[in-house]
Amino acid sequence: MNKVALITGASRGIGKQIAVTLAEEGYDIAVNYRNENEEIKYVEEQIKSKNVKFLAVKADVSVFEETEDLVKEVVENYGKVDLLVNNAGITRDTILIRMKKEDFQSVIDVNLVGTFNVTKNVIPYMMKARSGRIISIASVVGIAGNAGQTNYAASKAGIIGFTKSLAKEVASRNILVNAVAPGFIQTAMTDVLKDEIKEDIAKSIPLKRMGTPQDVANVVKFLASEDSSYITGQVIHIDGGMLM
Ligand code: NAP
Repeated sequence: MNKVALITGASRGIGKQIAVTLAEEGYDIAVNYRNENEEIKYVEEQIKSKNVKFLAVKADVSVFEETEDLVKEVVENYGKVDLLVNNAGITRDTILIRMKKEDFQSVIDVNLVGTFNVTKNVIPYMMKARSGRIISIASVVGIAGNAGQTNYAASKAGIIGFTKSLAKEVASRNILVNAVAPGFIQTAMTDVLKDEIKEDIAKSIPLKRMGTPQDVANVVKFLASEDSSYITGQVIHIDGGMLM
C-alpha cells in the first residue's frame, strides 16, 4: 500500500513541484487548491503519469470547516494521511504605515491559521497510526524579517513556533514535525518583482541564483523519507546561503 501525502496550495509553484516529486517517490497524492482553474488539470496529468493515485480537493485553508471537509475527503478516499505538507501561502506586501488591517489579517489567516487548521484535522489520524510527518513551508523572512512584509514575516515566524511546539507534543507518537525556510524561489509569488530587483537579489545570494521549486521539493522529499527519521522540530534553510 502506497504512502499518502496531502499537499496544500498545490495548483502551482512550490506546492505543485512537491506533489510531483512525492509522486515520483511512489506516494498517492492529494492536492488542495483554492481557485478553480486550468492549472490543477496539468498537475493531475503529471501526477497520474507517475502511476500513483491522484485526488484534488478544493478548499480555502483559512476556513476551518473547509479543512475539516478536505481532510475527511482525503481519508475517505485513501484511508490515511502519512504526510502533510502545509504549503498554501499568500503575500500582501506593503510597509506597515500603509498596511490595512485586512492585509495583515488575510496573510495570518491563510499562512498561519491555515497551517493550524489543516494540521489540527490531520493529527488525530497520525496519532492513532502512531506515525506521520508534517512539513510546513516557512520562509527565511520569518527568521530575519523583511521591510514591507510585517504580515508575512509574522505568519512565517508563527509557523516556526508552531512547528517546534507540535514537534515536542507528538514526538512520543512517532510523528515528526519540521519546517523548511526557502529564500527567493522562482514562482508566481516572486514573478511580481521587477527584473532589476530580482537580479540584485540573485547577486546578493552566495550561490548567485534564485532557487527553484525543485530545490525546495528535494528537501521536503528528504524530510519525508526514512533518511530523516532522527530529525524533528527543525527549520531547514533552502536559500543558497542567503541567511547565515
Ligand atoms: P504561489 O505560486 O503563489 O502558489 C501558492 C499556492 O497556494 C497556489 O496553489 C494557491 O492557490 C494556494 N493558496 C493560496 N491561498 C490559499 C488558500 N487560502 N487555500 C488553499 N490554497 C491557497 O506561491 P509559491 O511561491 O509556490 O509559495 C508556496 C509556499 O512557499 C508559500 O507558503 C510561500 O509563502 C512559501 N515561500 C515561497 C517563497 C518564494 O520565493 N516563492 C519563499 C519562501 C517561502 P490559488 O492559485 O488557488 O490561490
